[in-house]
Amino acid sequence: MINIKTQQEIEIMAEGGKILKDILQKMAQAVRPGITTEEIDKLARELVVSWAKKIPEAKISSSFCGYRGFPGFVCISVNDEVVHGIPSSKRVIAEGDIVGLDFGVVYKGFHTDSAVTVPAGKISKETEKLLRVTREALELGIEKTLIGNTVGDIGYAVQKHAEKNGFGVVKELVGHGVGRKLHEEPYVPNYGKKGGGEVLKEGMVIAIEPMITAGRPAVEIASDNWTYKTKDGSFAAHFEHTVAITKEGPRVLT
Ligand code: MG
Ligand code: MG
Repeated sequence: MINIKTQQEIEIMAEGGKILKDILQKMAQAVRPGITTEEIDKLARELVVSWAKKIPEAKISSSFCGYRGFPGFVCISVNDEVVHGIPSSKRVIAEGDIVGLDFGVVYKGFHTDSAVTVPAGKISKETEKLLRVTREALELGIEKTLIGNTVGDIGYAVQKHAEKNGFGVVKELVGHGVGRKLHEEPYVPNYGKKGGGEVLKEGMVIAIEPMITAGRPAVEIASDNWTYKTKDGSFAAHFEHTVAITKEGPRVLT
């Protein structure tokens, strides 16, 4: 069942999304060689606490902390890690790494979900291209997020752009509806056929999140039972926005 949001609910999600954006930007600015992923996670915790003090009635918290037992506050995935990386004091970021920051906040009972992948220091030309193409794939997917289009139109746009540039599209993990639950229907794959799948309707809110690999797209779960990594060890990038489908077109809430 797909939950259609009222105008008022979308406004609440936009307020939450603004806070998420602020926190994600500050985390991204903190990424540098020498920092640990635990320190980045700690920064997010501090920022959530300070926002929660400012707006106590919104009951702001992390969408991920404790989700199905996830031990971190933020998902931080480095290099060949695609998503769901657990922050650690042992994981020190090095020059040339790419750091995927995936975060969600709960605000007045509604989740928003967003991710960026940021470089630490100087990265290779090929990795720069991977980040750019993944960001562009997200933008192209958002452009297709229109009333009457389908989730297949979004997936088609994302996949075409990634593969045209010689990159792989992760199939095992997909975008999703967002609302009172972090993961709602419909699923939003990063691949698909034009006109295929669920039809987009006014009031739907979805997270679009291309996960693109520099090499082959196959992934496996690491020994921590959380982190998805590429099987061939190639780097992966992940960008995500929460988007509302409105009469005026796609509205990015994050
Ligand atoms: Mg996310
Ligand atoms: Mg998501």
